[in-house]
Amino acid sequence: MKFYSADVVFPIDTASIPNGLLVTEDDGTIIACLSPDHPDYNLQNAEILAGWLVPGFVNAHCHLELSHLKNKIPQHTGLDGFVQDLMRMNNASDTEKQEAIQAADAEMQANGIVAVGDISNCSDSFALKGISKIQYFTFIERFGFNPAAADIAFESGKTLLEVLKQLPQNNKGNLTPHANYSVSIPLLRKIVHQLEIEKGIFTIHNQESASENEFFQFKTGKMVERFEKMNIPLSHFEASGKSSLEMMLPYFPSKIPLQLVHNTFSSELDIQKAIQQNSNTYFCLCPAANIYIENELPNLEWIRRNTNQITIGTDSLASNSQLDIVEELIILQNANPEIPVNELLKWGTLNGANYLGFSKRFGSFSKGKKPGIFILLDVNSFSYKINSSAKKAIV
Ligand SMILES: [Zn+2]
Repeated sequence: MKFYSADVVFPIDTASIPNGLLVTEDDGTIIACLSPDHPDYNLQNAEILAGWLVPGFVNAHCHLELSHLKNKIPQHTGLDGFVQDLMRMNNASDTEKQEAIQAADAEMQANGIVAVGDISNCSDSFALKGISKIQYFTFIERFGFNPAAADIAFESGKTLLEVLKQLPQNNKGNLTPHANYSVSIPLLRKIVHQLEIEKGIFTIHNQESASENEFFQFKTGKMVERFEKMNIPLSHFEASGKSSLEMMLPYFPSKIPLQLVHNTFSSELDIQKAIQQNSNTYFCLCPAANIYIENELPNLEWIRRNTNQITIGTDSLASNSQLDIVEELIILQNANPEIPVNELLKWGTLNGANYLGFSKRFGSFSKGKKPGIFILLDVNSFSYKINSSAKKAIV
């Protein structure tokens, strides 16, 4: 058995414990998490650590396959500028891509990330997933705004999923659509039907830019310009007067876990309607990527007033300078100092584990879990503020 005590221990599923004592098996399996008033509390054999003891982090939204685009795309150009730069830059060699994917995985491990929901459009990240220490759930992402191309997109996704399923580990995954504006209704219907049969999990990029809502409401703006430049026909699409989420919600699954990613331009009504449609809706925040691309953050007051199912993602290195959940939490804490730190840490650990189906092992210091144990070193235990993302692995 091992014993660890720290300035504050965060079991996550219960309140934080000042001077708590974490008792584990030698391999890091949790036995107990004790407060100083517990009869079994004894520091005699304990390693006393300065800082906050937390379980491993869960990155609920990442794109490993875009890791070679680190520092390649200019910041604050807006989503439409970002997508155009992305298409222009995506010409690295296979070796460069593989090296970048391996480095990104190593960076996440060093930053205390133990599980990831990763978006894959191709098999570039599969070799790494077959050997990584991180637990991955892979979303095979499909897009195609032209309804006539739905069958091809769906079938190619199923073929890619079969390749994933051959991996010796990390072979869990399912199809998912890219974004409200990039998927046709027939393609969305096919994906949702498949996921409901498989009892899969659904995720989609949602309201990342104001131009997405403008496109759905009025069929005007930068998104129309982008479709025209790409020669994508829009004749089948009509302005609805509704936001993109409100328009697409009726086609989303209502009974399987659903994660909306970004939500930067979601109204409170959008958030309420999403929860009404599916009570198991998670709202994934990727604040560093939101600042990188649009220089805006989602309204947390509106989200928190309606749900506590919030998860954290780093998005990809194309729109982030690091893959570190703690850096994301620092941005959110600085912008919203009223949010209790235990709640923030829960978004970055247990909620992501719950959404991805990994909560038997990860997300909290509950008895029997083996969640990874990390110490946050640069924290203020009086104001409960995270000063920097400095941290160390304990187990
Ligand atoms: Zn993304």
